[in-house]
Amino acid sequence: MQGFIVKEQSGFFWVEGEDHKIYTCRLRGRLLEEAQSSDVAAIGDRVTILEAEDQTGTIEAVAPRTSVISRAARTEGNRGAGAAEREQVIIANAEQAIFVFAAAAPEPNFRLLDRFLVMGEKSDIDKIVVVVNKIDLINRAASEAKFAAYVQMGYTVLYTSALLGIGIEDLRAVLKDRISVFTGPSGVGKTSLLNFIQPGLGRAVREISQSRQEGTHTTRDSELVKLDTGGYLADTPGIRQLTVWDVEPEELDGYYRDIEPFVHQCRFRDCTHRTEPGCAVRAAVEHNEISKARYQSYLIVREELEQAYALD
Ligand code: GDP
Ligand code: ZN
Repeated sequence: MQGFIVKEQSGFFWVEGEDHKIYTCRLRGRLLEEAQSSDVAAIGDRVTILEAEDQTGTIEAVAPRTSVISRAARTEGNRGAGAAEREQVIIANAEQAIFVFAAAAPEPNFRLLDRFLVMGEKSDIDKIVVVVNKIDLINRAASEAKFAAYVQMGYTVLYTSALLGIGIEDLRAVLKDRISVFTGPSGVGKTSLLNFIQPGLGRAVREISQSRQEGTHTTRDSELVKLDTGGYLADTPGIRQLTVWDVEPEELDGYYRDIEPFVHQCRFRDCTHRTEPGCAVRAAVEHNEISKARYQSYLIVREELEQAYALD
């Protein structure tokens, strides 16, 4: 039977089958071997299962993924093999990523937003939506002005108020029938928005996003929450803790949508866009074709990436 993984916990996978029933599955032996070096199965994966008794089964095959959000998790090697990087898949086949911030209280953390966007661009997710909540605290024009650069670079930005019920219908329509990553810093109103969309939904997602595994292992519990309208949501701890460490410093400029178009016009192919002569990115900043704030953000993240790689 075909199905897809909606939950993973301690080596078990909950698979929603074509019959809409949930099967608790383990990986078949061959896949289990492959799973030593990478996550062959994760939430969102489309799988073929062999059913057994009592709603259990075995995952026989995993279909190729259309998008992957992952991070490199360091593991201690077995039998003296040394430490190795193992790809940890946080979610497969997500169709869109929704990053929620507040217009005020808390002030938008644009550097965090930029990191989320880098992660979204790298993962091959089709659609990225920025939600700006709490627009009742400042007026709409002021909210729009804060995020204008992101609209200009082609991102969909939705303005909402979970307090007044503004923009909820638009958000519901965006979520309907799709697999979405839904995340953002705490206090911006994610829980309130989700509760508005569907009673109890905020609490369900929050419980998962705050779950933590005991002991030394990296948090692995992850789950997709089903929407009444059709579609699924994920906000696993892994997503929130995700940093951009898996991005090579040299590829970072390709994930800044507003910077990327200029990169190929720089005189030097390996231009870092800091002090090199003939840098088209710096020229674009001077001509206000790239916002200063985004350029600063790129410089800071690039610096952090270089330091992280130097430590390796
Ligand atoms: P989360 O941590 O992102 O899930 O945020 P919550 O949904 O728990 O909301 C954090 C606080 O912001 C709560 O006190 C909410 O009542 C408040 N809040 C949420 N949405 C809005 C909004 O649209 N406008 C205003 N003024 N307050 C909001
Ligand atoms: Zn340059």
